[in-house]
Amino acid sequence: MSIKVPYEVKRNVLLNPGPATTTDTVKFAQIVPDICPREQEFGSLMKGLREDLVKIVHGDLKKYTSVLFCGSGTVNIDVCLNSLLPADKKILVVNNGSYSARAVEVCEYYGLPHIDLRFPADQRPDLQIVEKTLRENPDIALVHTTHNETGSGILNPIGEIGALAHKYNAVFTVDTTSTYAMRPIDIEKENIDFCMASAQKGLMAFTGLSFVVGRTSIIEESANYPKRSYYCNLFLQYDYFERTGEMHFTPPVQTIYATIQAIKEYWAEGEQAKWERHTRVFNAIHEGLDEIGFRDIIKREEQAGLVVSVMYPDDPAWDFEKVHDYCYQRGFTIYPGKISTLNTFRLCALGAIDEEDIRAFYVVFKDALKHLNVAVPVQYNE
Ligand SMILES: *Cc1c(COP(=O)(O)O)cnc(C)c1O
Repeated sequence: MSIKVPYEVKRNVLLNPGPATTTDTVKFAQIVPDICPREQEFGSLMKGLREDLVKIVHGDLKKYTSVLFCGSGTVNIDVCLNSLLPADKKILVVNNGSYSARAVEVCEYYGLPHIDLRFPADQRPDLQIVEKTLRENPDIALVHTTHNETGSGILNPIGEIGALAHKYNAVFTVDTTSTYAMRPIDIEKENIDFCMASAQKGLMAFTGLSFVVGRTSIIEESANYPKRSYYCNLFLQYDYFERTGEMHFTPPVQTIYATIQAIKEYWAEGEQAKWERHTRVFNAIHEGLDEIGFRDIIKREEQAGLVVSVMYPDDPAWDFEKVHDYCYQRGFTIYPGKISTLNTFRLCALGAIDEEDIRAFYVVFKDALKHLNVAVPVQYNE
């Protein structure tokens, strides 16, 4: 069924790290006849959706499954950590940024035994230290990290961390929320047991649907692990789906319709072509920053290709809020930074946008700098 677009919706270019700019066909895919999600018709839609979510990361459907949750992306972190830890075992969080710090907070809130292994936000984790920690703590049963640290834009070496986790018999969970369906991922080759994302990021649909993709055998094993949450338990949700074809509690019905359309558009564009488009956008972001003299935080070769963290210039006329407002009024959204020790803002390459949108953005952005009397090229004191 092709989606009718009855009128064009004002198009905003979102350069924040999700929700992302969507196509009008995905927007209007939400407009459907009212349906009770307990109907078989809806159940069969979810079955296909669950399989597609596994296929996007090249998972073998005999070994991997996906489990849907109603919520934003953080629900996945909550679910994986609280559900996949056996009694009397420990979690190791390899933490070099704000999203892994969020995982540490989840451990704290549930009172889960954990090690918060911290590395500087502008550096990749030191694998020797990760290995030493695993060797010295044989009770670590779960290793968690973030693929693209959305706070900084750094790409973490998940294949290597996963290999270490497996060497020491731990399950490896990765927050791939800001790479899934953008940067190609092969779940098995990259040693991932569980990865996760939300419909409003790489898939370019809407908030409300999040999902964990992972090893069916490990989910089944976790049936006997301590139950620490009623709503956010991975096994309970999986088991209910398998037995009934439904979500345990009410699913985000309209977001699911939009996500199914978004996945159609994902297959039509193609994994490689989509990644190339995001790369064009990312390169155009860098070209514009270079031209104006802005500095970024993470070494270019260590960036995941989707988020650029930019240093505020040392110019008293610079005012992020004012630049933001100027751009926002003209249809472009820029986003504050998330590195606690530095003043930064972010420009992201997510969503249904291409390089000409970035060029159009820089026309407005440069106008904003001129309007505020910020010197160009921008100045740094050292
Ligand atoms: C967006 C994002 C999340 C989810 O954040 P929500 O605010 O709950 O949507 C989790 N992890 C990463 C790496 C993200 O980029």
